[in-house]
Amino acid sequence: MKQGKVYLIGAGPGDLGLITVRGMELIKTCDIIVYDYLANPRLLESARPDAEIIYVGKKGGDHTLPQEEINKLLVKRVKEGKTIARLKGGDPYVFGRGGEEAEELIEAGAAFEVVPGVTSGVAGPAYAGIPITHRSCTSTMAFITGHEDPTKDDTAIQWDKIATGIGTLVFYMGVKNLPDITKNLMKHGRSPKTPVALVRWGTMPNQQTWIGTLETIAAIAEREKVAPPTLIVVGEVVNLRGKLNWFEKKPLFGRRIIVTRARAQASGFSQKLEELGASVIEFPTIETTAPESWDALDKAISSAGNYDWLIFTSVNGVGYLLQRLRETGRDIRELAGPKICAIGKKTAEAVEATGMRVVLVPDEFRAEGILATIGDVKGKKVLIPRAEEAREVLPEELAKRGAQVDVVTAYRTVRPQAKKDAVMEAVRDGKVDMVTFTSSSTVSNFAGMFADDELKEVIAKVKAASIGPVTTETAKKFGFTLACEPAEYTIEALTQSITEHFAKPSA
Ligand code: SAH
Repeated sequence: MKQGKVYLIGAGPGDLGLITVRGMELIKTCDIIVYDYLANPRLLESARPDAEIIYVGKKGGDHTLPQEEINKLLVKRVKEGKTIARLKGGDPYVFGRGGEEAEELIEAGAAFEVVPGVTSGVAGPAYAGIPITHRSCTSTMAFITGHEDPTKDDTAIQWDKIATGIGTLVFYMGVKNLPDITKNLMKHGRSPKTPVALVRWGTMPNQQTWIGTLETIAAIAEREKVAPPTLIVVGEVVNLRGKLNWFEKKPLFGRRIIVTRARAQASGFSQKLEELGASVIEFPTIETTAPESWDALDKAISSAGNYDWLIFTSVNGVGYLLQRLRETGRDIRELAGPKICAIGKKTAEAVEATGMRVVLVPDEFRAEGILATIGDVKGKKVLIPRAEEAREVLPEELAKRGAQVDVVTAYRTVRPQAKKDAVMEAVRDGKVDMVTFTSSSTVSNFAGMFADDELKEVIAKVKAASIGPVTTETAKKFGFTLACEPAEYTIEALTQSITEHFAKPSA
């Protein structure tokens, strides 16, 4: 039997980029992933498609699975010969009970390794503009649990020593006890004027920071209803935030944007928006799936050599055609013969990535663009593998010009209902700033997800960004307020125009 092993992995503080290379490698290869509520669930997208994913919770002490059960689960599964990525927020050995899990594994004779992570106590302050040490302020710092009841007599924290003996104090799990923590520090000699920062959901797009002093911060936290997960940073270094704040200054920081592209394509766009600081809600309103029958496509592929033009209108069209070639034991050589045209840069890139050459990419990335540049098609045979339901302009116009056009279904689009309620709730709470549309069908599919009165509410509260004129027209028809539309119909240009929109003082 294969030797099992448990990897206690620090998932980092939240920002997906802050997991270690080693941690990511293991997520990609392990049989089982066991994760906590503080580990960013999007890390799981990198897991093997057949990996077993187990959530063991832990939200403010409300354990979905008690620690003992987690330990038992790890031991049982590792003994079955499984490799297990045990993902914990931040670093597994910093207030993460990783030590206990490791002890349990050793006792059970199971193999384990630790993969340290970037702890939130370092990264959260850094993203809030606070270096936890700085030569001009302090040379010492401490990580302290704020979970312990500070009023109990047998406290393990020596308040008298840490209050004045250490420069920067970073408390984990301390919001609930904040009034007592600050009182204790002041009682033991720390100046009431000492600056304090609270950093909630540090390194995440929804990061929030509050600044006060030992005297004032408890009242601020109460007024603002600050909840976990939050770090308390005490010390003069907090003042550096005035100069060093960077993350919260990103152009889209604090903006919540819905991305409606199909899941497979959404991530590139989402990443761009997130890179600029936005909080992205991925809400795929269309997903692609195989056609009901492959007959038409198979037939077209078999006679590909007879065509003069092969026109791809989407990345999906390219993807499904290639997939079908592979599945039927063929390859791109079957497509030799016709000249290849692609609507849009991304589609052209997808074609060229296969080694085939695209001879025509119209300047205007839509059907009309092809019609303007393809030249004389009289008597030419044209093959268009595309979505079952798509605009008819291209085939109809080509036919009018005397071409013989074969449109074959390479894939279908379907409407996934999941997530709608969560989106509606976010809209109702006023937490959504914008919805992005990258095609007419994303508009109509988005609209189709909601009941009439719901859609009215969404349209009233959320403005839209559209990739181009056809999409804009559809969005306007539904009643959306258009915030921006780029001159070039690409995701890059759309991202740019969204950024420019939010840079306006009125946005
Ligand atoms: N092992 C984790 C800490 C677990 S204890 C680590 O190394 O970061 C849980 C506490 O960590 C929370 O109550 C909160 O104080 C802190 N924490 C974890 N992630 C955080 C984040 N992204 N932002 C703010 N605080 C966080």
